[in-house]
Amino acid sequence: MKDTGMIRSLDSLGRIVVPVEIRMTRNIDIGDPIEFFILDENIIVLRKYTSTECTFCRSLEQVSYYKDQFICSNCVKELGNPERISQESEPRQEDAQESAVHTNSIRRTKTEEMNQRLQQAIVDHPFANQKGLAEILGISQARVSQLKRKFSSTSK
Ligand SMILES: [Zn+2]
Repeated sequence: MKDTGMIRSLDSLGRIVVPVEIRMTRNIDIGDPIEFFILDENIIVLRKYTSTECTFCRSLEQVSYYKDQFICSNCVKELGNPERISQESEPRQEDAQESAVHTNSIRRTKTEEMNQRLQQAIVDHPFANQKGLAEILGISQARVSQLKRKFSSTSK
């Protein structure tokens, strides 16, 4: 566990401010649900709440957890078998651009491609923040942060 060194006091109503640095880097926005976990007697862990529905099709059936994402057994099968794409039901993602990436079984390639575009955007716009980069690439801020995490974990 990493110590952020940040300390915040509870206010008179027992509320606490999650430092903006943490909200930015963890992609937590105002209004997002936060889960509380008790690690041991002295440690409480906060986490942005993510539903256990499948990342790709929003199903809640036979969902398993893989690399920080939930995925249902049907989508696992489809990802392993590109021939099945044409039979896939309509994407139900809210964000159309996200769904184009998510429901596609060549997602890995798309991710790599998007990652390269992100790296290029960072070079072209060295002072752009996450929001700016998201706008430049036409993807969500969540996607930018996901790509950044992916990239930083492989480059170390
Ligand atoms: Zn699914």
